[in-house]
This record gives sequence, C-alpha cells and structure tokens, in this order.
Amino acid sequence: MARVVVSGGAGFLGSHLCDKLIARGDDVVCVDNLITGSTDNIEHLFGNQQFTFVRHDVSQHVWVPGPVDQIMHLGSPASPIDFTRIPIQILKVGGNGTHNLLGLARQKRAEFLLASTSEVYGDPLVHPQPESYWGNVNPIGPRGVYDEAKRFAEAMTMAYHRVHGIEVRIVRIFNTYGPRMRPDDGRVVSNFITQALSNQPLTVYGDGSQTRSFCYVDDQIRGQLALLDGDHMGPINIGNDVEFTMLELAAVVIEVTNSNSDVTFVPLPQDDPARRKPDLTEATTKLSWKPEIDLKTGITRTAEYFAGILGY
Ligand code: NAD
Ligand code: UDP
Repeated sequence: MARVVVSGGAGFLGSHLCDKLIARGDDVVCVDNLITGSTDNIEHLFGNQQFTFVRHDVSQHVWVPGPVDQIMHLGSPASPIDFTRIPIQILKVGGNGTHNLLGLARQKRAEFLLASTSEVYGDPLVHPQPESYWGNVNPIGPRGVYDEAKRFAEAMTMAYHRVHGIEVRIVRIFNTYGPRMRPDDGRVVSNFITQALSNQPLTVYGDGSQTRSFCYVDDQIRGQLALLDGDHMGPINIGNDVEFTMLELAAVVIEVTNSNSDVTFVPLPQDDPARRKPDLTEATTKLSWKPEIDLKTGITRTAEYFAGILGY
C-alpha cells in the first residue's frame, strides 16, 4: 500500500488512475486546479477514506503534509483547442509545475512519474515512432507550447534523476480516449461521437488521410501502472499500434452509433502531424504490456458514456 499524489487527478486520465489506485488499496492525494478537469470525474470518491482532493495550481509551490511514496504528474491541459486558448498555463505547468512536483519528490524521497506525450515526436519523420526518435517539433508554432513544455518536463525529470538521484518514470502517452473525456474538448473522438449522436456532419480536418492510433483508457492506465510498479525508467510509449485515417475513424463512429451523419471537410490546423503510431517494442518487452481493447469496442463504450451524459 502506497500514498500517491496524482496531479491532474480530476481530469480524464487522472480520474481513472485515482480509481485504480484506490481499488488496489493505495491512498490518493489528488491535486488539481480544475482548469480542464471536473469534480464530476471524482465525486464518487468523495467520502472515501483513501481519497483526498486538494484544489491547487501545481505551477505554484506545492506542499503535501505527511509521507508520500509516489507522485504521478498528469496535470496539464492536453487538447489542441487549449494550445491556443491557454498556451501560457500549458508552458507553466510543464515547466514550473514539473519542477515543483520534482521538488516535492526530492523532499519526500518519492518516486516521480511524468505523463509525457507522443507530441514530443512532433510531426514525425520516422514511422512508427520508437522512443529513440528525437522528434520533429516546430518550437514557435501553435502546438509548440505543448510539445516544448513536455520536452522541457522530460529534461527536468532526467536532471532531477541525475543530480538528486530521484527515481523517475516517463510515459509517452499516445492518443487515448474513453469515458470522462469532455464532450466539448475538441479532440477528434469526442467531436466525432457527439456529432454522430446528434446526426450532425462529422468535421474531418484536411482531407482525412492523416492517421492516429487510438488507445482505450483502461489499456492506457494498466500500462502506466506497470511502468510505475516496475524497474524500467522509460521514456516508454504507451498507446495502441493499430493505425487509422480520420476518414476510417469517422466511418467506425458512424457505424457504432448507427448515425445518419455524413462527413464535412474543414481546413487542417497548422502543424497537425500527418502520421502517428507508437513502436511498442519497449512496452511489450520491458513491461510485458500490450493494448487489448480494439477501436470498435472502445468507441462503443465511449459513445454509451456520451449518450448518457448528454441525454441521447
Ligand atoms: P485532462 O484535461 O482531462 O486532464 C488534465 C487535468 O490536469 C485536468 O483535471 C486539469 O484541471 C489538470 N490541470 C491542468 N493544469 C493544472 C495545474 N496547473 N495544476 C493542477 N492541475 C492542473 O487531460 P487528459 O487527457 O486526462 O491528460 C492527462 C495527462 O496526460 C496530461 O498531462 C496530458 O498531457 C497527458 N496526455 C494525454 C493524452 C490523451 O490522449 N488523453 C495524450 C498524451 C498525453
Ligand atoms: N480532427 C478532425 N476532426 C475533428 C478534430 C480533429 O479531423 O473534429 C483531426 C485532427 O486534425 C488530427 C486528428 O483528428 O489530425 C487527431 O486530433 P486530436 O485533436 O484528437 O489529437 P492530436 O492527435 O492532434 O493531438
């Protein structure tokens, strides 16, 4: 049994992580400023003795009384619409927030896990992307605020490991979806499902030939916990390696939701990566982990969740 601090624990991935940690007997201190998260995601945990919620911006000094064994730093806006809406907050939480939580890890002699991203590979020139690839990022473009914040966070994490001997883990998360995503967060899965449920046209950006590889949330959390519990430091890719074009994704969503929707084409955002798929060799060999839930199953579960909260 451990005491685990989860930054961003009221968000999509963080709240699932809190659930799994509590289910296995750990105590959880969830630290979140609710900038993109919601107490709706964790209200079922209020009143649980193992769970504490602290509303706080981790870009400001962080202190947690009592022992801390592990810190999982998921706090960061993650949706491309936030890259232009709140870019400075993204840079601050990747920089100051990561620094503050590493400082807490040093004080408490706690293990530190950083939630990094496939965006560190930018618009990749190597396909699929192995962890050894250094990436192709435009530092001054609109996505650069997120990509560079996470790259800085990885560098800071490794510096604390080298200088202060902190035990660290770095997970590079590839596109993950599932219940508790915000219906209006602008990501492709939430957009397509909400559009299909309301029989509106699905907004395909560009010509829809760009690819992503979608991981269901349960697989993602299982991978992160395997990393936390094991000896491998990472960075390690956690995602699904079955690749889809956005037109193929649209077809799956329309089929699963039994929708009358068609697709409509709108301009591609600047620096949108053309292809993305994780090389999972490290995850399968070092963590004995692989994704299990296919796209149709995951989209069905996610569509049921959206239909429930939106009243369809
Ligand atoms: P999310 O927006 O649902 O969750 C992020 C949470 O962090 C929110 O609850 C938000 O309020 C909180 N937060 C943001 N800034 C904070 C701050 N300064 N102080 C305290 N809390 C703060 O997004 P998510 O999809 O759950 O992403 C979680 C993490 O995983 C992020 O670090 C993100 O970069 C990373 N990630 C996610 C994906 C994905 O596909 N979902 C892909 C790559 C990386
Ligand atoms: N996309 C789309 N329609 C939408 C939203 C996104 O075609 O309504 C595309 C977007 O251009 C990108 C892909 O879907 O190529 C994935 O976008 P998302 O915002 O989910 O995540 P990203 O992988 O770009 O961070």
